[in-house]
Amino acid sequence: SIPLSFFAGIGSASHEGVLVKGSNYLELLSEIKTVVFDKTGTLTKGVFEVTNIHPEKISADELLHMAAHVERYSTHPIANSLKKAYPNEADACSISDAKEIAGQGMQAIVNGKLVCVGNAKMMDAMGISWQNCLDAGTIVHIAIDGVYAGHIHISDVVKPHTKQAISELRKNGVSNIVMLTGDSRSVAQRVAQDVGIQNVYSELLPQDKVKKVEDLLQNKAKETDRLAFVGDGINDAPVLSRADIGVAMGAMGSDAAIEAADVVLMDDDPLKLATAIHISRKCLRIVK
Ligand code: ADP
Ligand code: MG
Repeated sequence: SIPLSFFAGIGSASHEGVLVKGSNYLELLSEIKTVVFDKTGTLTKGVFEVTNIHPEKISADELLHMAAHVERYSTHPIANSLKKAYPNEADACSISDAKEIAGQGMQAIVNGKLVCVGNAKMMDAMGISWQNCLDAGTIVHIAIDGVYAGHIHISDVVKPHTKQAISELRKNGVSNIVMLTGDSRSVAQRVAQDVGIQNVYSELLPQDKVKKVEDLLQNKAKETDRLAFVGDGINDAPVLSRADIGVAMGAMGSDAAIEAADVVLMDDDPLKLATAIHISRKCLRIVK
């Protein structure tokens, strides 16, 4: 039978905006030793601002226009930001064959031309040479009919509570904190340093994230050392179900992530994970 204190624990968690999908997860929460975070939308807001546009042989406006059109069928935070930066719905373009490539970006036929919008990995896969840019921030490359058309700089910001969340997790028994991201090494390192995470793995494809979590699960010191994965995206669903405890963002997170998760942070605040662990430890009398 389930101890009464578990119901109280689930109640207190829900009062804090943390949805715990079963009393068994309350116990698992109290045993978390490793927390693996996705970066974009989890540690950072996932709301990118366009900071610079570097077109090649076309105008900056046309470059942004192309990128925004190709992103129309994506709900990735990068796509939403590019659509917001070019909200002009009036100019009708014909778009077909839109295709999202996980961990790389989007491709579509716009007015008869194949437009690719994504990272260096996508450009490499298409055999398109891109300009090496040493500027900080996330870079979105654009190619039109196999010809490099330039890049757009976008930048995201760390959520206000992220740094505090990391230190609160450590105070609540979490000894290993890891960041996984599909973004570039330089962006990943900068965010990690800002928030106090030492274990960082960047330029990962969704399947690389699953592999990394499986490795961490296999190398646990004890069976009862639990691993939580925190993510927000459609691509995060496989990792969320693999982890001992999958934690999703409730407000901006994708439906697939919320569905696959065991715990949902309703207001997308990573600090609430530390709160939930604290509540679970109190319930199980680990904290007096
Ligand atoms: P994260 O691990 O930071 O959540 P994702 O795995 O969702 O990142 O994406 C990894 C990288 O793939 C992004 O940093 C970006 O370079 C590229 N990417 C993914 N989706 C898109 C998109 N719709 N448009 C442009 N680039 C994208
Ligand atoms: Mg993501």
